[in-house]
Amino acid sequence: MDKEVLDSTPEVIHNIPQPAFEDFIARQLEHDSNVEIRKGVAFVSSEQEGDYVISHVEDRSTKARWSCRSKHVIACDGARSRVREFLNIECEGDDGYETMMTIHFKADLRPVVRDRVGMLHWIMDPACSGFIIAYDLGCNQVLISNFDSKKHPAETWDEELARSTVLAAIGRDMPVEVLSYRPWLLSRKVSKEYRHGNIFL
Ligand SMILES: Cc1cc2nc3c(=O)[nH]c(=O)nc-3n(C[C@H](O)[C@H](O)[C@H](O)COP(=O)(O)OP(=O)(O)OC[C@H]3O[C@@H](n4cnc5c(N)ncnc54)[C@H](O)[C@@H]3O)c2cc1C
Repeated sequence: MDKEVLDSTPEVIHNIPQPAFEDFIARQLEHDSNVEIRKGVAFVSSEQEGDYVISHVEDRSTKARWSCRSKHVIACDGARSRVREFLNIECEGDDGYETMMTIHFKADLRPVVRDRVGMLHWIMDPACSGFIIAYDLGCNQVLISNFDSKKHPAETWDEELARSTVLAAIGRDMPVEVLSYRPWLLSRKVSKEYRHGNIFL
């Protein structure tokens, strides 16, 4: 990281994989008496009662349901928010989408990148278009690439196609271990509202 950035900002960017960051936050909150983390619990519905919100939730493994009362609800349930859907808040934006493949892999990219060290390495190539997030240039990277779903439908992908896509991105043959590959859709949408009573999206 360029130390010159510290002339303009007190902190450098920290490139942390999401699972590692979530573990870090969970550890920080573990002994906080104000916080109770319950995993595997899904929001089902809610209603506003005066200044309070009653949320109805479900344990996904036992299907047991219960309610909790709170002053506010902060949804944080992602792009396909069940809370947003329940509140009938629509999204607006582009109806189109792009098919993307995320490939988590392990390779030693240091000899490829040499001194051109970056966090995101962009690839513009007919065989692969996207970018590599280098969490650790020596052994932990993610390639996010557009793919042609007519030529290679998501269900036809296998480890070999994932590996050849990674090698096309790297631009040379080298040892690569594919750890996982997963398709997803990229669309550009924004919620029309972010608040309904005491519930925030
Ligand atoms: C492949 C990929 C790579 C990315 N890489 C980066 C990156 O390197 N850096 C970066 O800054 N951003 C990255 N992003 C974007 C980033 O992941 C998202 O912007 C971010 O995760 C959005 O956070 P969120 O909390 O709004 O939603 P999410 O992270 O989607 O979290 C929503 C949570 O709500 C839960 N949930 C869903 N429904 C319910 C329900 N009914 N009840 C209870 N819980 C529910 C879900 O299980 C999930 O845990 C990436 C995104 C993708 C798809």
